[in-house]
Amino acid sequence: MNPFQPPVSGATLVFNGCDLDNWRTRSGAPAGWSVSDGVMHVVPKTGDIMTVERFTDFQMHLEFMTPYMPEAKGQARGNSGVYLQGRYEIQVLDSYDLAIPGMGDCGAFYNQFAPLVNGCRPPLEWQTYDVMFRAPRVNAQGEVVEPVRISVLHNGIVIQNNVQLPGVTGGAIDENVGEPGPLLLQDHGDLVRYRNIWIRELPLKGSDTYEPR
Ligand code: MG
Repeated sequence: MNPFQPPVSGATLVFNGCDLDNWRTRSGAPAGWSVSDGVMHVVPKTGDIMTVERFTDFQMHLEFMTPYMPEAKGQARGNSGVYLQGRYEIQVLDSYDLAIPGMGDCGAFYNQFAPLVNGCRPPLEWQTYDVMFRAPRVNAQGEVVEPVRISVLHNGIVIQNNVQLPGVTGGAIDENVGEPGPLLLQDHGDLVRYRNIWIRELPLKGSDTYEPR
């Protein structure tokens, strides 16, 4: 199956399919992952990579493929992760055979929200995440007045429905939740692949509050 979806109008290709010139490691060094045939490959031990661009509210599309690791169990089976704003990890893992996924399984917000259902395809098949991300709203004192809200579709299935995370997940780049942040992909040592990553930034006006007017 090949679910490759072209970007919607107004979207930015944050992975151009050719190189990682706009990606860096956490320390700002050139990204150490490899690219071939429009696909980026985790190169284990080279570290997480993140975009130079920073985002606030956005719609994101991304495709990933987990490796076939029949001997591995749990967190050792095809682990990676997609950190929205570099702060909120949607787990990437081969959780295909799990009846009831938990807070560490594929599609979870790590240690915060399990996915509503298991949306996984088998390893070695392309899978999609589509995300609607609304950044936390922060007042002049830096206090969060409205928490982050995130919805996620996994292979077209709603697995996170407008969840309000109480804070960043483990491994976040920082806790400056009122600032824009990058898209970060995790090197957890497994041979996960990514392709066709685009982000469409959303206007902040018109969504500036969920409170009644
Ligand atoms: Mg992970």
